[in-house]
Amino acid sequence: MGSRGRLEEIGLQILRCRACDLWRERKNPVPGEGDPAAEIMLVGEAPGRREDESGRPFVGAAGKVLELALRGAGLSRGEVFITNLVKCRPPGNRDPSPGEVRACSRFLLEQVRAIGPRVIVALGRHSSRFLASQVGVRLDSILRFRGRVLRGRVGGVDVSVIPTIHPAAAIYNPGLRPLLEEDLKGAARLARGGSYG
Ligand code: SF4
Repeated sequence: MGSRGRLEEIGLQILRCRACDLWRERKNPVPGEGDPAAEIMLVGEAPGRREDESGRPFVGAAGKVLELALRGAGLSRGEVFITNLVKCRPPGNRDPSPGEVRACSRFLLEQVRAIGPRVIVALGRHSSRFLASQVGVRLDSILRFRGRVLRGRVGGVDVSVIPTIHPAAAIYNPGLRPLLEEDLKGAARLARGGSYG
């Protein structure tokens, strides 16, 4: 089965999943979307209200910030794969709990295995902490770790993990937008076989 078929299968598993309580209040799960053979995956934290309503990742205000940063880095939504660490919306946009992350992260790892990216950009502290832990790094602060490349195996795939800020943080603090764009530029260079810096 190709990566597109495998991703569709994972999407169906997410639709049927009741492994944590978040399925009870969601309108739609948000498995993710993009190129099934993407060299770059972007991983946010969890769906918000607009994402829950549409079933698509990063379609609200944070999505606009992300799209601008992607464009600034010479990338488009269609050539990356965008998803979240947790696939159903936590009520009131609260942070996902450790139990919810534990229950849901297997889907992210299966998506990584299906796509086989070179680079994973972790958007925000929850996905950064999780992905850093997969490559044996204990991440305590985004601002301390952003701009670094963490290499290792995630979901059985050799990847470079780039922790960066969440686009939602850049809505309230526009000074963070250039940092997000800079990190996406580095991701694009790495995905093309160049160096990050
Ligand atoms: Fe299942 Fe993840 Fe949704 Fe929880 S958040 S119900 S683990 S798909």
